[in-house]
Amino acid sequence: MAEVEKVVIIGSGPAGWTAAIYASRANLHPLVFEGAISEENRMNGTLPLGQLNLTTEVENYPGFPAGKLTEFLRSALSPDELAMLEPLHEGKHAVTGPELMRLMKQQALNFGTRVITEDIVEVDFSERPFRLTSNEGRTVRSHTVIIATGARANYLGLPSESAFKNRGVSACAVCDGALPRFRNRPLVVVGGGDSAVEEATYLTKYASKVYMVHRRDQLRASQIMQQRAFNNPKIELVWNHRVVEVLGNDKEGVTGVRIEHVQSGEQKVLEASGMFLAIGHTPNTHFLRGKLELTDKGYIVWKKPFRTYTSVEGVFAAGDVADDYYRQAVTSAGTGCMAALDAERYLAHHGL
Ligand code: NAP
Repeated sequence: MAEVEKVVIIGSGPAGWTAAIYASRANLHPLVFEGAISEENRMNGTLPLGQLNLTTEVENYPGFPAGKLTEFLRSALSPDELAMLEPLHEGKHAVTGPELMRLMKQQALNFGTRVITEDIVEVDFSERPFRLTSNEGRTVRSHTVIIATGARANYLGLPSESAFKNRGVSACAVCDGALPRFRNRPLVVVGGGDSAVEEATYLTKYASKVYMVHRRDQLRASQIMQQRAFNNPKIELVWNHRVVEVLGNDKEGVTGVRIEHVQSGEQKVLEASGMFLAIGHTPNTHFLRGKLELTDKGYIVWKKPFRTYTSVEGVFAAGDVADDYYRQAVTSAGTGCMAALDAERYLAHHGL
């Protein structure tokens, strides 16, 4: 029989890598399934390194004040990774999400973490050690599992929206905003939270104008972010409207969006060459249905306050997959640390 792992970590955002750093330093030889590099994951925004890898600057991760990080990055990362990251860092003041994620991964690798670039698609928690199966058909058995699969961006669910995905419809300004099709053109961002402001602000670098279409008459975003939107002359708030159709054609992709006033029902068209969604997230727990207790929205339930215990003993959850409230890089990293310590104590307690 194949060797039984002590700790398998599923997911590769801040929670996953922090759990891996702690577990590897505790000599538990963790195995991380960082996710597959597939078209499906790209479309869903669930590629390895998680959501932070899809963001720009990270100004609020402790220990990374604005400054020139180049020398540090050079000493910490491989030349290949640096070559990929350097263009993304151009003009930035703080560490970027992709840099931070590679630094976290590197830190875990330095302590001997093993990584498999596949998705876990099936779990069997009814037998011990637990059995996990990957999208490549690989099966591993483990005494403990830390789930850190995070969450992914939501879409509106309009047929016209899916028809124009990657042809003007995107949920990641950082990934797609610099594409030629969006340059010096008006763009639409849907949503009223911090992400919407962040995306809109980022897109003003390229767009001639950014409409923020929000379904209410006030933003959900934090005060500082709201001010950023109000003070940006390229951002126009379109209050009390919802998008009802994405307009476009085969040649040009998106050419506009039809919006509707939420009270009057009156419709109008905003000319735009792109629509960026920033309307919240869905946890990546599809493979856990019926295996673990989940909330109505699909988040993993932590069964005990200030512990990462799930409904199955020996299975722990960390990061956004179990958190629909804080959803910050630093809280994810914090709960990743907690999950690794919880797993270590579980193993010690059971003499494993
Ligand atoms: P969020 O705060 O949940 O905001 C989602 C927005 O989308 C809300 O304005 C919501 O409208 C709107 N929305 C939801 N479903 C919709 C639908 N079907 N149609 C139209 N609009 C819809 O999500 P978020 O902005 O992604 O932020 C998530 C968390 O990450 C927050 O804790 C946030 O503070 C944090 N975050 C922080 C930063 C930062 O500090 N720089 C950046 C990004 C995210 P309603 O307001 O009407 O509900």
